[in-house]
Amino acid sequence: MYPEIQLKKGKEFSIERQHPWIFSGAISTDCSALTDGELVTVTDAKKAFLAVGHYQHASIAVRVLSFEPCVIDSEFWLKKIENAVQLRRKLGLFTDSNEICRLCHGEGDNLPGLVIDYYAKVAVIQCHSIGMTQHLEAISLALQQVLTSDLIAVYNKSSETLPKRKDEQDGYVFGDCTVPHYAKENGITYAIDWVNGQKTGFFIDQRENRRLLGLLSQGKKVLNTFCYSGGFSLQALVQGATVVSSLDSSKKAIALTEENIALNQFEGEHHAILADAMDYMKELPIDYDIIVLDPPAFAKHRDKKHQAIQGYKRLNAHAIRQIKSGGMLMTFSCSQVIDKVLFTNTVISAAIEAKRNVRILHQLHQPADHPINAFHPEGEYLKGLILYVE
Ligand code: SAH
Repeated sequence: MYPEIQLKKGKEFSIERQHPWIFSGAISTDCSALTDGELVTVTDAKKAFLAVGHYQHASIAVRVLSFEPCVIDSEFWLKKIENAVQLRRKLGLFTDSNEICRLCHGEGDNLPGLVIDYYAKVAVIQCHSIGMTQHLEAISLALQQVLTSDLIAVYNKSSETLPKRKDEQDGYVFGDCTVPHYAKENGITYAIDWVNGQKTGFFIDQRENRRLLGLLSQGKKVLNTFCYSGGFSLQALVQGATVVSSLDSSKKAIALTEENIALNQFEGEHHAILADAMDYMKELPIDYDIIVLDPPAFAKHRDKKHQAIQGYKRLNAHAIRQIKSGGMLMTFSCSQVIDKVLFTNTVISAAIEAKRNVRILHQLHQPADHPINAFHPEGEYLKGLILYVE
């Protein structure tokens, strides 16, 4: 069926446990004739079937699409997309007050390399493997069949997630939609611009954590650092914060935050601050009841882990030192290589350095529309804490 790739003896164990990646070192077949993105059948050293997946000349050589023999055709995509959408429906994520969710989360939806975000009838796709880009049409058709009138456009934004394919143009695979496009999360309206914005235009993975911040914000003075388009700021303001300051080092992010602030109604004051968070935190007056720290991934690779830990520690120590007595710190890491135990220990050592008494109130994580494949623990990336600082 598809070109066959054989594994070295003993290298089939992780696949038998349904881990969806095969590393190049596990393969005995000469793969030099294969093209990036090609579909392959994977067999063990005795030629017994193991999986079907996408091949790529890289350290992760195969991303598995199926552990059963199958043809990757329109029916396959329809079933997969149906499954993914059905899960979000079960989670109650399609409502009048919530029009934003992640429809497909790569390995977490058994589709390694495929991310689909949904913004009020528009799906934005980011492929993280070359193989996935070859099925864009089929994926788009499946989305149309499953979502019917709940879909007006499908946009492909894979050029930044596949750096080797700069020749690939981003653009609409189906329909058309002007940006910014307006969509609600937790009842709050955001202007979403997938063409010019970061990632697919919005950080969907913080929806539940924003909701929790909202519950804590009544009458509070809040500092939201690394604010991007202001999700945490708006949630706090809409739920009664008296003052919210939103800080980001990107002019574009501050402009997006201000645009979103203008779209919603609330009583409190809002201030935008264009600054480097680390510099700003050093000089921060002891004035805030709640501080949110949601930095970008400090470590994208294992070799940056130590440096990243130092960065998280410094940042958190500044915040813990400068927060009002009885205040709360909501702190996150989205670095996949820093696991939740390591992150918690890093924040605790920051508290020791800051010489404050700290209690952990909440342990936070990615929401259910960013599911973790139980056989692919690497899919767990977002972790956070809410600390109570005496
Ligand atoms: N909390 C945001 C997402 C954060 S993404 C949300 O809920 O949508 C990370 C943000 O950090 C980006 O907007 C980026 O511009 C900003 N950033 C990166 N380095 C920074 C720095 N040194 N100081 C301040 N902001 C920074």
